[in-house]
Amino acid sequence: LTKTRSAFEKLEDLVRRYKRIDEEFYEELEEILISADVGVSTVMELVDELRSEARKRKIENAHDLQPILSEKLVNLLQDKDEDTSLNVEDGRLNIILFVGVNGVGKTTTIGKMAHMFKSRGKKVLLAAGDTFRAGAIDQLEVWGERVGVEVVKQQQGSDPAAVIYDSIHTARAREADVLLCDTAGRLQNKVNLMEELAKIKRVIQREVPGAPHETLLVLDATTGQNALSQAKAFSQAAELSGIVLTKLDGTAKGGIVVAIRNELNVPVKFVGLGEKMDDLQPFDAEQFVHALFA
Ligand code: GDP
Repeated sequence: LTKTRSAFEKLEDLVRRYKRIDEEFYEELEEILISADVGVSTVMELVDELRSEARKRKIENAHDLQPILSEKLVNLLQDKDEDTSLNVEDGRLNIILFVGVNGVGKTTTIGKMAHMFKSRGKKVLLAAGDTFRAGAIDQLEVWGERVGVEVVKQQQGSDPAAVIYDSIHTARAREADVLLCDTAGRLQNKVNLMEELAKIKRVIQREVPGAPHETLLVLDATTGQNALSQAKAFSQAAELSGIVLTKLDGTAKGGIVVAIRNELNVPVKFVGLGEKMDDLQPFDAEQFVHALFA
């Protein structure tokens, strides 16, 4: 989170410089949050609340206001008592569907998550449901080999729903615990995307009642506000249960986490912090905000 920190480092500096809070302080605060990609409407809401809180509690210096800002950010990021862990249970086949546009880190995230489950002793299977993009199947297989899990695939161009159907039956035969399903991310053609996702979901629901247990949207944090518009489009195409935000190691704009949460109300469940197998972490709002000010 070093880069995300550096954007917010200005916050620390701001708090240090303003012995007394005035209008200029709030303006600077707004600028910093907007430049960190928190999103204009979210920033306005946040700063307004902060202003009235300061007035109510008669807070005059920025140092005393900082814990309130931290608390508000944490609350924005996570409802109290919210469970951001994955809906995965022992004794059943757990199906996790991954959606998102090309290049965001979907395949990498599936690989990392396969590794995570495998190291917890789970039997994992991957479904190569992106039959559209050239190279998608091979790329998933590279991850399969790296992690040591089987990949169920068909030829490029085949029906993704058929691949998913196949993979469910293979998963049953292998007594797998977790099936991670890749899908194609064609946002250019929203109607196709919706139909394809709907068909995949129908197949999953028919074969495994109650599934998919998670539908995770993968977003690239470095694309800033673009990630937010992708999130809006995908939430119309599929009912999302969570977000994986990748490449947080490569951006100074981690504030997009706040914007996504505030505008879509879908929890960020995992963050990607690099290209390696171990670079996936459960998202922890308190830890995230703490790191911003630490
Ligand atoms: P897909 O097209 O969505 O499947 O994307 P890929 O999984 O192929 O990832 C695209 C690129 O982003 C690859 O070069 C990955 O190594 C890289 N990548 C994925 N996740 C992360 C991350 O958390 N941090 C960094 N720095 N790079 C990542």
